[in-house]
Amino acid sequence: MTSSAPSKAVAPAPAALDKEAHKPSNFLRQIIEKDLAEGTYASRRWGGSPGDAAHHASGPLDPAKVRLRFPPEPNGYLHVGHAKSICLNFGLARDYGGVCHLRFDDTNPEKEDTEYVDSIKDAVHWLGFDWNNHGETNLYQASDYFDFMYRAAEYLIGAGHAYVDEQTAEEMRLSRGDFVKPGTDSPFRSRTPAENLARFREMRDGQLPDGAAVLRARIDMASPNINLRDPAIYRIRRAHHHNTGDKWCIYPMYTFAHPIEDALEQITHSICTLEFEDQRPFYDWLLDRLAEGGLIATPHPHQYEFARLNLTYVLTSKRKLAQLVNERKVSGWDDPRMPTIVGLRRRGYTPEAIQLFAERIGVTKSDSWIDYSTLEGCLREKLELTAHRGMAVLNPVKLVLTNWDDVMGTGHLEPCTLPALPHPAEGTESPVRHFTIGKEVWIEREDYEEVPPKGYKRLFPGNKVRLKGGYIIECTGATKDSDGKITEVLATVVPDTKSGTPGADSVKVKAAITWVGVADGMEAEVRMYDRLFLDAQPDAGGKDFIESLNPNSLKVVTAIVEPSLANAKADDKFQFERHGYFVADCKDHQAGKPVFNLAVGLKDSWGK
Ligand code: ATP
Ligand code: MG
Repeated sequence: MTSSAPSKAVAPAPAALDKEAHKPSNFLRQIIEKDLAEGTYASRRWGGSPGDAAHHASGPLDPAKVRLRFPPEPNGYLHVGHAKSICLNFGLARDYGGVCHLRFDDTNPEKEDTEYVDSIKDAVHWLGFDWNNHGETNLYQASDYFDFMYRAAEYLIGAGHAYVDEQTAEEMRLSRGDFVKPGTDSPFRSRTPAENLARFREMRDGQLPDGAAVLRARIDMASPNINLRDPAIYRIRRAHHHNTGDKWCIYPMYTFAHPIEDALEQITHSICTLEFEDQRPFYDWLLDRLAEGGLIATPHPHQYEFARLNLTYVLTSKRKLAQLVNERKVSGWDDPRMPTIVGLRRRGYTPEAIQLFAERIGVTKSDSWIDYSTLEGCLREKLELTAHRGMAVLNPVKLVLTNWDDVMGTGHLEPCTLPALPHPAEGTESPVRHFTIGKEVWIEREDYEEVPPKGYKRLFPGNKVRLKGGYIIECTGATKDSDGKITEVLATVVPDTKSGTPGADSVKVKAAITWVGVADGMEAEVRMYDRLFLDAQPDAGGKDFIESLNPNSLKVVTAIVEPSLANAKADDKFQFERHGYFVADCKDHQAGKPVFNLAVGLKDSWGK
């Protein structure tokens, strides 16, 4: 293990990251530690940028002990599943003296948007990671490798490892066989390299219509692994590409492109999700052939698979999330109910909470579902120590202290204080919140009962409670409108019982309730979020997830908040005492017009 100690010169840990020393091991850590101990990649050279075998051979020994990559397709905003992969890849690189590349996998000439590219870079940075390392900017786009991919294809043709197939798609499907039946050879399989090369160049030069031919690897039509039955590696597709324009009318298939991208970038450990496990033999076949031909550096990268994140009540597919946005089921990719990184962030999630989540769920080799409460628990755990406390009344009714003017003085406002943090970090003191109490305060409507249910300890005629951080009061009744709805709760203040004064404990009460002064409280819009779906697995088995949308996933209330909350800055997180954790909305919150989002409740109410 000592030989794998991270070299700090290569990958300094970003300051934002947790210093939690102990990281539970997992199969990927064990693989990397073994490779480091055995020096599997110690002889690798690095040409300073991605490139072929000759390019890397001309460079020095790679200063990065391992190279990993995070390879998103820029076709949407990243979600919590991607966050797991980012934390995993960048985290392993950091911990083992390596680097992690951010690679935009843009080989598919689909509509791609700089909006997505920018948001992906933001997401990686926000999570606390960086692709810039010891003077290298490891930010790449796969379409920059099209020339090499073409060269690799011609090499395979020349070496007899690939052929142009002109069967129809249907003929190819029928001749592929299935799990029990081997495939049969295409009539085009025995073309000579020279014939194939000429035909492939015609494909490239636009002499064949879209779909008229594909280039296939020549491997084994009887392989038990269907992915090895001469998979297609290039197709004809007249499509404009955002990076290469109209230069190409043939594009590599993903399964061909991805191993080559990894090889050119000298990736050591190429980590992907389990659905690619069956592709691994082709990954190795392809890189072995290209290494034989001297095209790529050796040892070539290896692929390892882990189980993707499945989170209950959450969709983890960019396409399905796009549908929610396009059909306006949510306000946008950053709607606080979305599991996107921008959505989680706006909801009040912190990078530390998401990193903790990624660590806690770990990596495994078998699919499972993670309960949504695990994610919420991580946020609660982080905010418990850092979020300033404050009082907010979410369903206000006025409480009038009928003897206030007589005992305290007409119009008197008494200053009160409470600590903002109940458990300040060792050696520090909690900031202090200032607010005032006067004749009228706002309390929660549910804190008064004319006829109290058994065990009720809050306000009812004759009962005493403490206004938290203020005085003890005794309830005397309430006024009602003609419909019987309470308009004001009435009480008297017990003088000399202010919190923190010698008389505070002179009267015993069973409850303290939260409140906000009418004089210094401020109205705030509070967005009370609930899960977006009613079904724990909204898209399982091809179900229409739109049908299980929760109609009550957002309720907006007008609350009254204490002055320290009214002065919040966008993105500030608070615990509204007794209600939960809230964040000042990063888009709509303004000084004088506060807007808060419910991040997470105080207790786990899921599945209960
Ligand atoms: P989507 O279906 O949402 O588009 P994807 O896998 O096609 O997901 P990519 O942009 O291709 O998205 O993925 C980038 C990386 O993120 C991949 O390496 C992939 O393995 C990883 N990833 C995507 N979804 C998850 C998930 N749910 N759990 C863990 N890793 C994931
Ligand atoms: Mg995808």
